[in-house]
Amino acid sequence: MEQVKEKAYAKVNLGLDVTGRREDGYHLVSMVMQTIGICDDVAIYKTKDPNISLDIDYGGVHLATPLSAGDDNLCAKAARVISERLRIRHGYFIHLTKRIPVAAGMAGGSSDAAAVLRGINRLEEAGLSTEELQELALEIGADVPYCIQGGTMLAEGIGEILTAMGAFDDVPILVAKPPEGVSTAEVYHALDALEEIHHPDMKAVRTAVETKDLKGLADTMGNVLMDVTLPRHPVVGQIRDMMLEQGAVGSMMTGSGPTVFGIYKTWEECKSAAEYIRGSGICETVMATKTIGDITK
Ligand code: ATP
Repeated sequence: MEQVKEKAYAKVNLGLDVTGRREDGYHLVSMVMQTIGICDDVAIYKTKDPNISLDIDYGGVHLATPLSAGDDNLCAKAARVISERLRIRHGYFIHLTKRIPVAAGMAGGSSDAAAVLRGINRLEEAGLSTEELQELALEIGADVPYCIQGGTMLAEGIGEILTAMGAFDDVPILVAKPPEGVSTAEVYHALDALEEIHHPDMKAVRTAVETKDLKGLADTMGNVLMDVTLPRHPVVGQIRDMMLEQGAVGSMMTGSGPTVFGIYKTWEECKSAAEYIRGSGICETVMATKTIGDITK
């Protein structure tokens, strides 16, 4: 095999809580992660030249500053990590087609990195197990282990302790991102300085997700990072209110934001809400999609 293609799916958090901090400063979390149908495409080619090179196609993303296509891109980092592990001597050329909004709380970079790990494992017929890929993934970032398998999962620890949950698939989801980007590291840092924090009831969120109880999820879903991002970016609240007015069963910010998602009962309602929010002009990206239970299908 000389080349492989992988899809790198975005995620939303159906629930996100921060439960503590490790001595090394990493935050301990409890997150219900859910893959959605928005994806980047990653094509990986073997090269004789031992370097790792990257080319990015921005067909689907608005970016004021292009992403680095150098060594610090998470695709290049992932290729380096797995090459070292497999003692590969040749290089790779990676073509990335970006559609997932950047710095948006949708794990775009993490998912690209996971796709490169899966792709090179297949390309080299290396036979690394999911657990082995997840171990490598953690060297790149806390959300990368989840992105190896995707689907509906509870992520604990710093994000690396993963428990598969009953698939919450085929649920219409509307995703809307205002023009600003948010730095995940900065939001976690600011959370530490807050005196009052609203912790969601993660057990209730998990039960609602496992029983596919949309109303129950709407009543319990919560994201502790909204305590930081909402006051800084009031547009997040505006988008959430618009989604609810437009028939969403529930609406919330994903990750550290500023992207907001809404859960809809029907695809028609989801598409019509997308048109309404697009028409408001306050969002840079508005996408109607569905949850995905299994990324291998
Ligand atoms: P998360 O939800 O995991 O916190 P995010 O969606 O908020 O992530 P990303 O889009 O993954 O954020 O990007 C975070 C930063 O990572 C970007 O600002 C960018 O500089 C860097 N980055 C490196 N490689 C990539 C990549 N392939 N795609 C996107 N961002 C990348």
